Amino acid sequence: MAQILDGNRVRDEIKSELKPRVEALAAGSRPPGLAVVLAGNNPASEIYVRNKIKACHDLGIYSENITPGDSVSMEDMLELVRGLNQRPDIDGILVQLPLPAQVDTKRILLAVDPSKDVDGFHPCNMGRLVAGLPGPRACTPAGILELLKRYAIQISGKRAVVVGRSDIVGKPVAFLLLQEHATVTICHSKTPNLAEICREADILVAAMGRAALITAEYIKPGSTVIDVGTNRVSNREEALRIFRNSADRMAMFDKRGSALVGDVDPVDVAEVAGAYTPVPGGVGPLTIAMLMANTVAAAEQRAEQRLGLC
Ligand code: NDP
Repeated sequence: MAQILDGNRVRDEIKSELKPRVEALAAGSRPPGLAVVLAGNNPASEIYVRNKIKACHDLGIYSENITPGDSVSMEDMLELVRGLNQRPDIDGILVQLPLPAQVDTKRILLAVDPSKDVDGFHPCNMGRLVAGLPGPRACTPAGILELLKRYAIQISGKRAVVVGRSDIVGKPVAFLLLQEHATVTICHSKTPNLAEICREADILVAAMGRAALITAEYIKPGSTVIDVGTNRVSNREEALRIFRNSADRMAMFDKRGSALVGDVDPVDVAEVAGAYTPVPGGVGPLTIAMLMANTVAAAEQRAEQRLGLC
């Protein structure tokens, strides 16, 4: 059976390492500050934001939840972000996506001060990643790298295949793996012979949003498989196909009426891979931990600037 890469364990490690850094900042002048902008009413976003605010609270990071309504105008959103850029007590600004339809997401993300861009989505910070310069990295990809390193999985010299080319996951994780000297292939919905390419991977990252698409024929025996996908399956037939004879998972499905499924077949990966991230409990917990890490790093940098150290 393959080794399970436990995201909850790594998240706890990261958080316990951040705690003394937050305390040192608080003792020096003030705790790190994170502003979370949640525009409109999106139940999934509300849950994500609640979890982010809770993580701040646990670590002693100051957080502010700003909630403009569904009909917020583009101008008002820009003003809000510009205001947060100017605030000396705010080190990180997170604009929760998706934004209401009338708001141009790209313009809003561009308006965030790159030094406060704790999501790592600003084109300046994407550029810094591509150029190999330091800067905040997108949280989910950074979490994946942290997981691989903490489990001492060799990246240098290995073949990595990333399925998915989004700005949020696929592209940044590919560049992070490249920076660690993997030979990287990026695949997407127009890639022919996907299974054949995936089977070459020593490290396979699945970030498509397609429930259990990656089956045994896509997985090189003994490889490391990172499952980023979070898909909610509510059809019982589909759940049975995916979970096979797992009585536990089906009992959970029947209790909740749905189940969270990754992009990787959970039965096949456990049989074929050498190590893999489960869903839930793999990549998911790391995203918020890395948001906290980016916020603390931004606060430390601002504190050093105040002291004239950089
Ligand atoms: P996007 O929808 O932005 O991108 C999906 C990518 O997958 C696209 O590049 C698309 O190709 C590719 N793709 C879709 N279908 C196929 C297919 N059949 N074969 C090959 N490639 C395919 O998604 P995100 O990157 O934002 O998210 C991906 C998944 O990760 C989602 O399930 C999301 O919920 C999850 N996620 C999880 C996080 C976590 O913390 N655990 C954080 C962020 C995302 P093309 O470009 O050609 O359309």
